[in-house]
Amino acid sequence: MTQKNDLRRILNARFGFDQFKTGQAEILEALIAGKNTLAVLPTGGGKSLIYQMMGAIRPGLVIIVSPLLSLMQDQVVRLNYAGEQQVIAFNSNLSHAERHYVLSNLARYHYLFISPEMLGEATVLRALQKVMINLLVVDEAHTIVSWGPDFRPEYLNLPKIHQSLKQPQLLLLTATATVEMQKEMLQPFHLSKATLFHYQQSVNRENIYLRTEHVPDEAAKQARLLALVKALQGPGIIYFSSRRMATKMAHWLAQMTGLTVMSYHAGLDQHDRYRIQHQFMQGQVDVITATSAFGMGIDKGDIRYVIHYHLSTDLTAYLQEFGRAGRDGKVAVAILLYATGDESLAYAMLAATIPSTQVLSHWINHQHTNEMLSQQQHELLAFYQKQGQSDQQIATILEQRRQSRQADINEMATYAQLSTGLRRFILT
Ligand code: ADP
Ligand code: MG
Repeated sequence: MTQKNDLRRILNARFGFDQFKTGQAEILEALIAGKNTLAVLPTGGGKSLIYQMMGAIRPGLVIIVSPLLSLMQDQVVRLNYAGEQQVIAFNSNLSHAERHYVLSNLARYHYLFISPEMLGEATVLRALQKVMINLLVVDEAHTIVSWGPDFRPEYLNLPKIHQSLKQPQLLLLTATATVEMQKEMLQPFHLSKATLFHYQQSVNRENIYLRTEHVPDEAAKQARLLALVKALQGPGIIYFSSRRMATKMAHWLAQMTGLTVMSYHAGLDQHDRYRIQHQFMQGQVDVITATSAFGMGIDKGDIRYVIHYHLSTDLTAYLQEFGRAGRDGKVAVAILLYATGDESLAYAMLAATIPSTQVLSHWINHQHTNEMLSQQQHELLAFYQKQGQSDQQIATILEQRRQSRQADINEMATYAQLSTGLRRFILT
């Protein structure tokens, strides 16, 4: 029997599927042949199944680096459902004693979901160094290089962690990464070309109708949003760049339409976030008003529209966000509302993340203090200091980051002003 048939049999017996989705079999074959793999498959393309299968085929621990607790929980439930018992989400939901137990009994587990922060902890690494690792998976791997509002410097440590685990076979999974991002993602791992497999599927989503609408000002934008929510058939997601706006607009839209509208952002506690996401999945919520914190890994097939009230941080983020619509293959719409000058808001948010040259030189010249720094900026600088970077190096890195983020904003604003035909072209 060919390897493909064997794989099909396992797919069927273990996971109940008849055939592979596009790309899954090729990627599995490359992994079995020992290749480090970067797989770019669209949202809903079945990326998780790839590492689930590897766990079913080979011995050793599959470590999955995952950015969100809700994502981990979701995957644990799915694997348990498929009959897998040796699955653990190693995160803050575990008590100290439970963590200790897991680390002392790692050999009992087949799949370990973990955040990059926890994976970097010395006790965790020491324990992992003692077990056989089947595969190191980085899910939503674009997070390594995308520096969105939910900035996670620990992602930059993954190459070091990979080293200290003696370079286990690597699988990077993402739905969205430009060629540049892919290079940037891979480069720090120093993988030899010969060991690398790269799978890229078009991220074009034929069933999603893309459009942008220009409005003169904020008042017109709100009116247009209301008209759209009244006219469109949900469920829908509306993205905002601030928590405050997401919250405010949820109340307003609920009042004006009679629909059930809930807001979702990183400022809510874990419990509320989980509840809202769950209710949305169950069809008890019509519309979610959200920041970019919502949606990663959301597996809801029937989302009929995604509206952007503000620009995304870049085209990749945009693709990721509107890509949550129409996963069932039926027609869906993605609408970006754009008022002239909207990019200034994005610039202001960027300034809050990365300190300006001026603020930075004040920080350097005053023994690393500056009361002007935001919490986020503090954390960013602390991270680089911990890495042992000199002031000059930090300044250089941040300047590069700023420029690249500015380019992202301009790219997004250019997109907002293109005609429909061109829009498709750019995103294919
Ligand atoms: P992604 O991470 O690529 O966005 P998921 O791994 O969440 O996608 O998978 C999306 C859905 O596709 C899940 O419900 C999963 O069970 C399903 N799926 C995965 N592989 C297959 C397959 N070979 N046949 C049918 N359904 C599949
Ligand atoms: Mg996924």
